[in-house]
Amino acid sequence: MTKPPGKLLPLVAALLCGAVLAQAAKPSDQSVASAAPAVQTAAHAPLNVPVTARPTHPSSRPGPKKHQSRQQRTTAPADDWNLTGHGKVLYLTFDDGPQPEWTPKVLQVLRKHKAKATFFVLGIQVAQFPELVTLERAAGHHVGNHTWDHKTLTLLPDAKMRQEITSGVKSKCLRPPTGATNAKIQATAAAVHQRQVLWDVDTKDWTKPGVAKIEHALLAGARPGAVILMHDGGGNRSETVTALDQALTKLTKQGYTYRALPC
Ligand SMILES: [Zn+2]
Repeated sequence: MTKPPGKLLPLVAALLCGAVLAQAAKPSDQSVASAAPAVQTAAHAPLNVPVTARPTHPSSRPGPKKHQSRQQRTTAPADDWNLTGHGKVLYLTFDDGPQPEWTPKVLQVLRKHKAKATFFVLGIQVAQFPELVTLERAAGHHVGNHTWDHKTLTLLPDAKMRQEITSGVKSKCLRPPTGATNAKIQATAAAVHQRQVLWDVDTKDWTKPGVAKIEHALLAGARPGAVILMHDGGGNRSETVTALDQALTKLTKQGYTYRALPC
C-alpha cells in the first residue's frame, strides 16, 4: 500500500525549500567573502583623510540629498518588528558614516544621555575608518548596512544592486540609500538575511536647516517606537550634534529612553 501523498508532500516541500535556500545563500556568501579582502586592504588607508575631500566623501554626491524622497514613507519599518511595544522608546539612527570628525561627537552625545543608537554605515567609509565602527559596537550601539557607497539601488542593474548590498557591512538590517527601494531590492536583502529598515521621522539634518529645526523635528516626531533618521556622515554635522544633545535632554525629561534597533 502506497503512503498517502499527504505525508510525502511536507517532506518534498522541505527538501525543495532547503535546496532553494541553499542556492540563494551561496552566491551571497561568495559575494560577502569576495568583498572582505577589499575592505581589509582599504582599511590601511590613512585615517586623516580631509573631511572635505570630495572624491572620498559620499555626501558630496547627489545621493544623500535625495533623502527626502517620497518613497521613504511607503514602507513602515516597524510594522512587524514590535518596536512600539516597549513604551517610550526611540530608535535613533545615523546614516552615511562612519566619519572621523562627526561620528565621535555623536558618540559622545549618546554616551552623555545614556542612549543607544543604530549606525547605518557605508562600506567605503568603514574601509577607511574601521576603528570608528569598533567604537560604535564597543559602546553598545548597533551597526546597519547602508550599502557600499550610497548608489541609488533602484537605478542599478540587478547584479550591481546585489553587489552594492552584499559588499556593505555585515548586519541584519539594510537601509537603502535615499530610501529608494522596491520589491526586488527587499527580496535581495532578505536573501542575505537583511531586513529593510527605513524611518518614521526624517529630521532633514543633512540640509543643514539650523539647530532649532532639527531639534524641533526630533521633539515633534518623538512617539513610542519611532525610528528617527539623522546623519553622522555626509558633510558638516555640527547642527546634528548640537540639536541631538538639546533634544535628548528634553526627551529624557519626558521619560524617553533610546535603544538600538535589533540589527
Ligand atoms: Zn544615506
